[in-house]
Amino acid sequence: MNNILVTRSSMPPFEEYCEEIKKLWESHWLTNMGVEHKEFQAELEEFLVCPHVVLYTNGHLALENVIAAMQFPKGGEVITTPFTFASTTHAIVRNGLTPVFCDVNPQDYTMDVEKIEGLITDRTVAIVPVHVYGNMCDVDAIDRIAKARGLKVIYDAAHAFAVRYKGISSAKFGDASMFSFHATKVFNTIEGGAVCFKDDSLVATLNDMKNFGIRGAERVVFVGGNAKMSEFQAAMGICNLRHLGEEIAKRKRVVERYWSHLEDVAGIKLCKPQADVEPNYAYFPVVFDGFKATRDDVFKALADKGIGARKYFYPLTNSFECYVGWPTAGAKKTPVAAYIADRVLTLPMYADLALEDVDRICETILSCGK
Ligand SMILES: *Cc1c(COP(=O)(O)O)cnc(C)c1O
Repeated sequence: MNNILVTRSSMPPFEEYCEEIKKLWESHWLTNMGVEHKEFQAELEEFLVCPHVVLYTNGHLALENVIAAMQFPKGGEVITTPFTFASTTHAIVRNGLTPVFCDVNPQDYTMDVEKIEGLITDRTVAIVPVHVYGNMCDVDAIDRIAKARGLKVIYDAAHAFAVRYKGISSAKFGDASMFSFHATKVFNTIEGGAVCFKDDSLVATLNDMKNFGIRGAERVVFVGGNAKMSEFQAAMGICNLRHLGEEIAKRKRVVERYWSHLEDVAGIKLCKPQADVEPNYAYFPVVFDGFKATRDDVFKALADKGIGARKYFYPLTNSFECYVGWPTAGAKKTPVAAYIADRVLTLPMYADLALEDVDRICETILSCGK
């Protein structure tokens, strides 16, 4: 039996990519905002229906830079979620800010909006929520709270590329949204990322931050770093964007197959489709709660059959070793997130996952429940 990995990167046909990068062999222009970068950026602005898209070499630096671009006072508090990838919390802390962890709701595992206001202090500067698994946060409530309290909102939308809420692109909520185009995401540029926003004045700041503050051959105006997207990454994005529709349709088939096996199984909880949301089927999280076997038992049973699953997200970022001793850390402060983190597995999920493989994965899971 073949092994099944938890994910497999989407790639365009080899010839299509070669055709796209042919011009780079003619121009010898490999990075620094060349023709591929320009074209990809324009395509994304149109696809995401967003006035400004600034491309990055990865999603993490995109998030770190957009937080920096907001120029919050050092020591400011940022309300965020611990039920996420390391990047979200690290981006806050690496900017000299303090993460204040808000619990998640037990339906879609995004930030529990009922718990945000209780965490706001006179040091709070921003909210950094995560559209986790591609589930949209309660953007309306977050917007209301942020406006009333004068806080910025920066979405970690790493999982939410191509998702729409009430027909509106996920790129349009809050003051800015960060997308990751890492190889494992629904849409990839190998490594890559972007910041999307409406405010014209952010464009120059972000460009300075990702390219040493260089404005011209003899002008450097800002102490910036380097986080530019290369021409090869942009070319991958141009090609993958052409196939995104098919990829999402294929993912939908996989998700429907999972539902056909696992829906209504006692002790297995699936993430319900959200109202008014057009999904991207980024992940397939399953929560084992009252199932005969524990999450760790199921993880092991799958691994024994060569099937990869991920404890995504376990541990919570607020219980990472590097945050031990931080006054705001500790999984106990976010009991719902801790409960889910102990019970969740994301199952193999990618466009070309064979439906027979989904059958095999589900048989293995169900056999643990007997
Ligand atoms: C992938 C991811 C990131 C970081 O993106 P990279 O492109 O890998 O740097 C940030 N946040 C979340 C939730 C992610 O899943």
